[in-house]
Amino acid sequence: MEHTEKERKGKVWLAGAGPGDASLLTLKAARLIEKADVIVYDALISAETLSRIPEKKEVIYVGKHAGDHPVPQEEINRILVREAEKGKQVLRLKGGDPFVFGRGGEELELLIRAGIPFEIVPGVTSAAAVPAYAGIPVTHRDYASSFHVITGHARKGGRVDLDFPALVRLKGTLVFLMGLSAMEFLLNGLTEAGMDPDTPAAVLENGTCAGQRRVTATVGTLKEASDRAGIKTPAIIVVGKVCALSSQMHWAEDRVLGGRQFLVTRPRQSSSSLAERLRDLGAQVIEMPAIRTEPICPNRRLREALETFGTHADQEWLVFTSPAGADLFFDQLMELGMDLRSLLVRGAEVRIAAIGSGTAAALGKRGLIPDLVPRVYSAAALGEALAETAAEGSRITVARAEKGSEELLPPLLKAGLDVDDIPLYRTLYETHPLLKDRIRELLEQGRIDAVTFTSASTVRGFTGAVECADYTGIRAVCIGEQTAAEAAKYGMQIQVSDQASMDAMVGKIVELFGKDSGQ
Ligand code: SAH
Repeated sequence: MEHTEKERKGKVWLAGAGPGDASLLTLKAARLIEKADVIVYDALISAETLSRIPEKKEVIYVGKHAGDHPVPQEEINRILVREAEKGKQVLRLKGGDPFVFGRGGEELELLIRAGIPFEIVPGVTSAAAVPAYAGIPVTHRDYASSFHVITGHARKGGRVDLDFPALVRLKGTLVFLMGLSAMEFLLNGLTEAGMDPDTPAAVLENGTCAGQRRVTATVGTLKEASDRAGIKTPAIIVVGKVCALSSQMHWAEDRVLGGRQFLVTRPRQSSSSLAERLRDLGAQVIEMPAIRTEPICPNRRLREALETFGTHADQEWLVFTSPAGADLFFDQLMELGMDLRSLLVRGAEVRIAAIGSGTAAALGKRGLIPDLVPRVYSAAALGEALAETAAEGSRITVARAEKGSEELLPPLLKAGLDVDDIPLYRTLYETHPLLKDRIRELLEQGRIDAVTFTSASTVRGFTGAVECADYTGIRAVCIGEQTAAEAAKYGMQIQVSDQASMDAMVGKIVELFGKDSGQ
């Protein structure tokens, strides 16, 4: 039957990924990135957008072959058919909108011939978004009542075939995509067809992304101004009176962290708060989790500790040193079929300590307010505060990573406390085959302002993943001294946040890179 036949063939979603700022992905495209079996993407997809693709996802890059030759369209079409015929849900992710000079139509033709079901997911096109991020409204009641999107790219071997007198007569805003190499030809064509050479014009490079650039001039002077600024692709050319408005309406670069790009290396579940806050301040943020936590399961040591918890001393402490550790502790409790109350009824007075505000917040979600959070968020400070606070002879159960900080236990042992150090999870390093080359390239080009590290293990995971030859050009914003010491081993330029918290990390980044920091 045709229907089942089609289902076996899988399906292709031809989706636009927008112009680069990953926040401009549509909800539908974002969902498909999560659920597709395989993602076929090309060079126009930004690193920030790529970093939203789950690590284990199968991906096929059809941007450039080795040696910079573009993958021919026919080959891309064949890949889509081949993957769908394996029964896969295929996401073909394209820059901007798939039907605006995206050759989306051509990719569909073969799918239709092969009888493969498909959906089109429109995207935010650069033709409208890039001017918007440059403060250029493509239409305006006083200046332009239409806008026109035109390719500046010549078909094979020929010149760009455009009816310039017709374009001039439109009196609307003209937006040229793929027009950078033909700029002179395009602008001359317009003036020769009667356009006033003083008409405002702009060229906009890498729009909506960190480091977007805008050169505004006139039709007569734009080519020279663009060359002087060294504008490169991807860029669009905008012609029309509305271009003059950008001098008042520019905004994207003016945000506190506008124009900045950061790399966040925290594990995904905990990276979002830092990444999102930097984005809210205008930065582009690539999330490349350098480590992953794997619960130790089954956990015999934990089970034994919990079974006798509350029977060792008059006062017993539970100590948590990371939000992940706190979450895993309660997950494991559930796994063992234990109710939290069973820990409270064995006679001992139960106390709880957390290393910092993030861990305290994780406990708060479980209805617990820690009795102790040290003033400085570090393992050493936690150990000392606990040694001071805990009653003599107390039992201290520490639930944390397998290779936890060595600075926590000595003060406790010195105070004669009875310590049980239970490993809850292991830290594994991530490799990121998809992102590592792109990120190394961005780092080498100086297009990543800083990399954030929230533990020494993220430094090790990051260096293991990107494998740069030289780290001395990298600015590292580190959460504490131990993390900084690890980054220093690689020769990175170190900055340490004033406190071990996400607030302080954001604060340090704003201090260093924010609009009023004088940099
Ligand atoms: N389908 C895409 C366009 C593909 S053609 C869309 O709807 O946006 C590729 C051209 O798009 C580039 O040569 C450039 O002119 C333009 N472009 C795409 N992304 C851009 C960006 N972030 N900044 C400037 N121009 C961009």
